[in-house]
Amino acid sequence: MKAEIICVGTELLVGDIVNTNSQYISKKFTDIGIDLYYQTTVGDNFERLKECLKIAFNRVDLVITTGGLGPTIDDITKEVVANYFNVDLEMIQKYYDLIIKKYNERGFFEVASGAEKEASILKGSVLLENEVGLAPGCFFEKNEKKIIILPGPPKEMTAMLDDYALPLLKKYSDSILLMKTLEIKGVPEGKIDDRLKDYFQMTNPTVAPYAKEKCVHVRVAVKGNRQKEDVLWGKVNKIINDIKDIYPQATEVK
Ligand code: ATP
Repeated sequence: MKAEIICVGTELLVGDIVNTNSQYISKKFTDIGIDLYYQTTVGDNFERLKECLKIAFNRVDLVITTGGLGPTIDDITKEVVANYFNVDLEMIQKYYDLIIKKYNERGFFEVASGAEKEASILKGSVLLENEVGLAPGCFFEKNEKKIIILPGPPKEMTAMLDDYALPLLKKYSDSILLMKTLEIKGVPEGKIDDRLKDYFQMTNPTVAPYAKEKCVHVRVAVKGNRQKEDVLWGKVNKIINDIKDIYPQATEVK
């Protein structure tokens, strides 16, 4: 399954915050064998976000968005996605009640119109519970195109991704990516290239060098069917052992 991350937030574009959400999602998708092809960042702007969705769904099957689920006027993600798929939003009462309770506790006794929007998800979507914050997320699918909508705050986003979104996605992805990395000290990267060049040309498993400050990391990765995990580990371990024979000082990076 090909995927794209769309992070929504003008703060990200102007450099006020670092996009840790993208990094987190990329790692998790890689772990479960989803091919992450693109990462996009867009400001809180209706037309530009819609344009991003159009571009993304022309090139991938799965989009995951983070940010823009709050109650304020610039929180537009759910409206834009609903507009893109031509579906309505529906309010989740439990979240509405929770939001109102929190507003009251903070002394905001007027029911902000944003509460209804914050408590809404796309009609026909699967609710992704937010046990940390107030805005629910959702998983929506139409015409083979899937979208996961998550909030921006990393504490909320990571919990919802791990606890709800990834288990759901695993059902669609029967492939898995397995990796092991060796750290090799005392050999310059060029020298490593010479002795491992045949490995570096392999396609599955792949073997790739990463120059670090005082050593070189060599990562061995294989992709295949989840049901055949043992066989896949066998392939990785075989190469790891071969490289250890060439470089006895190599140690595995945990
Ligand atoms: P809220 O209800 O808190 O407004 P939201 O879903 O609308 O949540 P945003 O308003 O877009 O999310 O972002 C809230 C905060 O989350 C940002 O100020 C920032 O601190 C953090 N955040 C948002 N996006 C990211 C990101 N991609 N990486 C890291 N932090 C992020």
